[in-house]
Amino acid sequence: MKRVLLLGGTGDALVIARRLGPAHVYSLAGLGRVPADLQCEVRVGGYGGAQGLADFVRAQGIGLMLDATHPYAAQMSRNVSEASARANVPCWAIRRAAWQPQPGDDWRDAAGWSDIVAQIAPYRRPLWTLGREPLAHLDDIPPSQHWTIRCLDPHPGNASATIIGARGPFSVDGERALFTERRIDVVISKNSGGGATEAKLAVARELHVPVVLLKRPALPPATREFDDTASALQALAQWLHPDQLLTKAPV
Ligand code: NAP
Repeated sequence: MKRVLLLGGTGDALVIARRLGPAHVYSLAGLGRVPADLQCEVRVGGYGGAQGLADFVRAQGIGLMLDATHPYAAQMSRNVSEASARANVPCWAIRRAAWQPQPGDDWRDAAGWSDIVAQIAPYRRPLWTLGREPLAHLDDIPPSQHWTIRCLDPHPGNASATIIGARGPFSVDGERALFTERRIDVVISKNSGGGATEAKLAVARELHVPVVLLKRPALPPATREFDDTASALQALAQWLHPDQLLTKAPV
């Protein structure tokens, strides 16, 4: 029986996981929510690097890996690519296209943390949407700034930072209310692509707020690459016996 190992932790991956039957494995790092309503097996936690992943793939009789991790989860994508070569099992990947600037956008590229901090120095009310990384710098916030940090993790913040624990997708109306209430004057973001967290860019454009975008990491090539979940699912339906891809999401 053909078995798929789906590497996830993203909304795209969850869409695919909902279509996988019990023969297949959905793999999560364990940082976010673990869905309890899937028909496929859910495996939580790392493998101990590429060799550990290759060992797992061989031991479990996995015939295909599908990398649907976040575009900034570069270590895992490298591990999947390397494990694919070591275990001689193909690896497919969803490589979500980056967002592209539109007329009216004021986007600036940043190479890393210190570059971001330098670029936002003239601003007072940054909105951080990078994930948990800013939480490690709460004691370094300049007196001229108050940070709003949106990430998955609940956190009390401090006098210089308000932490909003939230999970996308986010709407334009919700983002506009957030920008207005928090008096946001600069946004820091990954260039994640996709629709779930794109609304902040539309609101930044509308309110003439600059956006500092952390550079995308380089990702390794995969055996096959897809732009979106629909094309990956179509290829999966061809690779699997048809009755192994669920036609409807379980309720
Ligand atoms: P990362 O730096 O590329 O990976 C760090 C380590 O976490 C990997 O070496 C691996 O450990 C483990 N890991 C990552 N993804 C895994 C998966 N799907 N299944 C099992 N182990 C996994 O990844 P990250 O940036 O910390 O992201 C962790 C997870 O959060 C990923 O699944 C990613 O899709 C999701 N996520 C990340 C971001 C982001 O901005 N980075 C945003 C949204 C969601 P071992 O080497 O021990 O196997």
